[in-house]
Amino acid sequence: MKSSKINKIAVLTSGGDAPGMNAAIRSVVRACAFHKIECIGVYKGYQGLIEGEFKIFNARSVNNIINKGGTKLKSARSKEFRTLEGRQKAFEIVKENSIDALVVIGGDGSFTGGMIFQKEFGIPVIGIPGTIDNDIFGTSHTLGYDTALNTVVEVIDKIRDTAISHSRLFFVEVMGRDAGHIALNTGIGAGAEEILIPEEDMGLDRLLESLKKSKISGKASSIVVVAEGDKIGKNVFELAEYVETNLPDYEVRVSVLGHMQRGGAPSCFDRVLASRMGVKAVESLMEGESSVMVGIQNGQMTLTPLSKAIKGKSKINTELIRVSEIMTT
Ligand code: ATP
Repeated sequence: MKSSKINKIAVLTSGGDAPGMNAAIRSVVRACAFHKIECIGVYKGYQGLIEGEFKIFNARSVNNIINKGGTKLKSARSKEFRTLEGRQKAFEIVKENSIDALVVIGGDGSFTGGMIFQKEFGIPVIGIPGTIDNDIFGTSHTLGYDTALNTVVEVIDKIRDTAISHSRLFFVEVMGRDAGHIALNTGIGAGAEEILIPEEDMGLDRLLESLKKSKISGKASSIVVVAEGDKIGKNVFELAEYVETNLPDYEVRVSVLGHMQRGGAPSCFDRVLASRMGVKAVESLMEGESSVMVGIQNGQMTLTPLSKAIKGKSKINTELIRVSEIMTT
């Protein structure tokens, strides 16, 4: 099955980091070692490719990283790679070092860069989706998403303890500028009273109505989970102020979870997913695939053209929206 063309693969992480990236690097390196393909770890994403900042990795180079958050290879956002001159420099490095293919672990921006590079210079590229937002089409889960859900639920549980003790209403902002997956799932998982996401416009009036109702029903404290890009269009502080002005009975507090959501040891789910995705990426390159992203759908490993993964939207599960509404009764 092995195509004689793939003798050396370079792997890099790019864009925002996510837990599970290290496990994916480890998997790519070990799959290469298993198939007797040379593997190069490129530091600092595409910028490292342009500057030739890399090391040859063997199976032992990736010992003891499966359980670590962040990325051993570091991540970066490279302005230079957005220019043809920058990509030309990267191609010179690729050629000089006889690199036959690239595995890019990152989000849709990183995939766009990879796709353009492949088109311009004919270097096969395979993407592994690494981002906590789960906003990539062609996979039910991106790397880091499950870990982020667990982190957020754990933190909201803690916030709830103090919310109950002081009978307060907490607005908790979670990541998700364009996608409400984290907010919706953690909101249900942590028993939030309301969940505000970019995909659905709940409206301020309904929010007030719902909070009033829950007060009347005897709830002394409440948690509202807000995605960064919630459709109402107000930021979490503006929302809190609005509610405090209109419902003076509530003592309102805001908690913005921020970058803690990106860190921490990956969950078992993310470690297993990363291991499967790395193997699939290497073996797909060996089979002659290019410009595709590895994903998981219905429990199976799949390939989706990068062009579709980038343009498509990962849909929010409407059944979850209904469940969350019923749970706040
Ligand atoms: P996240 O979703 O976490 O932000 P991402 O992969 O989408 O991750 P970006 O910052 O959008 O992150 O992209 C990462 C890098 O990919 C950029 O810094 C740039 O080097 C490269 N890249 C993105 N878009 C393009 C493009 N249109 N052309 C060439 N390179 C690009």
